[in-house]
Amino acid sequence: MIQTDKTAIVVRYANYRENDRMLTLFSPTHGLVEAVARGCRRPKSKLLSASELFALGEYELFEKNGRHTVTGFTLTENFYALRSDWERLSVGVYLLSLCEAAVQPGQPAQELFMLLLHTLSRLTFTEQPWRPLLTGFLVHYAAIEGIRPRLRHCMTCGRAIGPEDPAWFDPREGGIQCGLHRTPSMPPIAPAERRFLEHCLSHGSADWAERPGLSAPLPAIRAYVEQRLEQPVRVKLPTDSAD
Ligand SMILES: [Zn+2]
Repeated sequence: MIQTDKTAIVVRYANYRENDRMLTLFSPTHGLVEAVARGCRRPKSKLLSASELFALGEYELFEKNGRHTVTGFTLTENFYALRSDWERLSVGVYLLSLCEAAVQPGQPAQELFMLLLHTLSRLTFTEQPWRPLLTGFLVHYAAIEGIRPRLRHCMTCGRAIGPEDPAWFDPREGGIQCGLHRTPSMPPIAPAERRFLEHCLSHGSADWAERPGLSAPLPAIRAYVEQRLEQPVRVKLPTDSAD
């Protein structure tokens, strides 16, 4: 029997029995942790706030035979304002799913945890448009997972492609291609879109915004990241029904 305290955020839950929930927690030091929150769906439960999506705080966990039970919780932040904007809420749920897909049980993931918290904070507490914010998250996510896209040389011939030269982004190859080696079905990636990705990688999330000369290539970078996940992300984004 072990009692531990863990900073963590709820990335998923499943209801079971009458009043319980199985929480999937993302801890920066312990990776994914499954934990039961008993009775948390009763209106007066002290674990009510611990068992919602986006609940960030200190989880008191009791471990027995490899199973975790939540015994206490101190809330740090619940990103509550996200719930008032359906679009931003679905982007937030999408971020949680991407983290769940990348993190393993027992493996620290400090950098990804900080990326998630910074992006959720921007999404919740600022007016920053969500498309460039999500594109910035995705390109950093790729860099953390060791699959940073290649943006300066053709993936096939290795030729340097200048910042203003025509280029095509191939999500399967994970980088750009020159006019000779482009895959016919792939749309071009504009200089402003390549500049946006480079800009995100060199600036913090406060600065992930479109402006003259910078344009977020969300569909290309999203397709690239999603193709590399072991399990598909089933969360829809606000753009999906319109596409
Ligand atoms: Zn080439």
